[in-house]
Amino acid sequence: MNAHDSERMVDVLVGAGWQEASTLETADLIVFNTCSVREKAEQKLLSEVGKLKPLKEKNPGLLIAVAGCVAQQEGQKLLDRVSFIDLVLGPDNIAELPAMLAQVERGGLAVARTEFDLEDPKFLAASGASASVTSYVTTMKGCDERCSFCIVPTTRGPERYRPTNEIIDEIGRLVAGGTREVMLLGQTVDSFRDPSLPPPVSDNPDESQFPELLRRIAAASPSLARLRYTSPHPRHLTPSLIQAHAELSVLARHVHMPVQSGSNRVLRRMIRRYTREEYQARVRSLQTARTFEAITVSTDFIVGFPGETEEDFADTLSLVEDMRFTSLYAFKYSQRPGTPALKLTDDVTERQKSERLSRLLALADSLGQAHLKSLVGTEACVLLEGPSKSDRRGIAGFRLFQGRTERAEIAHVLVPDGVDASGLLVQVRITGANKHSLEAEALELRAFHDHLASGIGRALRRRLPVIGMNEGGAP
Ligand code: SF4
Repeated sequence: MNAHDSERMVDVLVGAGWQEASTLETADLIVFNTCSVREKAEQKLLSEVGKLKPLKEKNPGLLIAVAGCVAQQEGQKLLDRVSFIDLVLGPDNIAELPAMLAQVERGGLAVARTEFDLEDPKFLAASGASASVTSYVTTMKGCDERCSFCIVPTTRGPERYRPTNEIIDEIGRLVAGGTREVMLLGQTVDSFRDPSLPPPVSDNPDESQFPELLRRIAAASPSLARLRYTSPHPRHLTPSLIQAHAELSVLARHVHMPVQSGSNRVLRRMIRRYTREEYQARVRSLQTARTFEAITVSTDFIVGFPGETEEDFADTLSLVEDMRFTSLYAFKYSQRPGTPALKLTDDVTERQKSERLSRLLALADSLGQAHLKSLVGTEACVLLEGPSKSDRRGIAGFRLFQGRTERAEIAHVLVPDGVDASGLLVQVRITGANKHSLEAEALELRAFHDHLASGIGRALRRRLPVIGMNEGGAP
């Protein structure tokens, strides 16, 4: 969400005549975009801003702005604490950034704008002119859940939804500009309700219009290669959403479904509003929704939540084994300002939190490794995103591209030199498994042919079937 907000800030600034600077020293404006989900966000921000003091003293015309969730949380207090911050703006005030800058440049006082656009919510869209292979599209913002550990409802406000037609129009522009994969974004993305339509008719209070949104996108953008979404809440993983996964081939075969704990006692204290058993039943239905292919699931955990006992933590470990998550993100609990969990005693020691985090990550690593190794020798369809950052050696005439399989595993694929394969879908055979990624060889050369002179294409036909990469990177 923050990466998307940063892109929109660039859009509004460029639209107002600003240009990207190549170094901090030559910049007239420096914007910090901040996240406050984890601890010490304010201290980290203040420490980073403090490093700019000499620059500001040398160039008093330099403007410094703070955006994002710390800005929303602290507001005017940031201006009071740091005299050389010129602007503070919340996530709903991005569109106002150029006007605020103009005001300060005209000699006005430092300004803080942190109002939520509750009456008339705005969703800044990408123009689509130079779309990347994967683009983020916001479908809703804010959160009406009140998970007891989470600061997001405070920093992002209540849920507001974007009309379906606006979402479809933006995706259409992005696809026309070269986007192959769309990631729908929202704090509880699967609670979507179209504000321009009547509420869904259902006895299930967790039913949303998200499955319908997915269907409408699939119908309106037939050339879209992949559709993903993040982050869903398990409460809205209803039978109709699972049915959408069964029917829509454009939906990726992977879903990130945060669970946070495997213990019912902890889930209750977290106010997650589902039990371990409900989560298991729903996710199992999702994993097996498609007849011939499994849908993989990754998740998030918080360890060391107040009151978490060794027994509760054992429930978390057993859930990980039981659900066969292909990957997970785990964090140590830390108190966040204004959250309900502040009323609970933070009684798990730092040492216990660290030790549980290590055990959970070690289990996740071993399951993740086993999953990747199990794929060696199978075929997959990889959406190539761009040249690989891997330092593995290629072979003469080829270079490594990085992409993701339909299950979201990272894959490195050899591509002929001189071909910009970004955005291509290639059928591959998986030849090796690294710690967090796969090595693969292209089976399907047709995708490259549009990009190659026919002579090189013929050479490729002869050479590619013998190409493979092993752990050492040798061909
Ligand atoms: S669903 Fe819970 S964890 Fe997610 S943003 Fe909302 S309050 Fe935070």
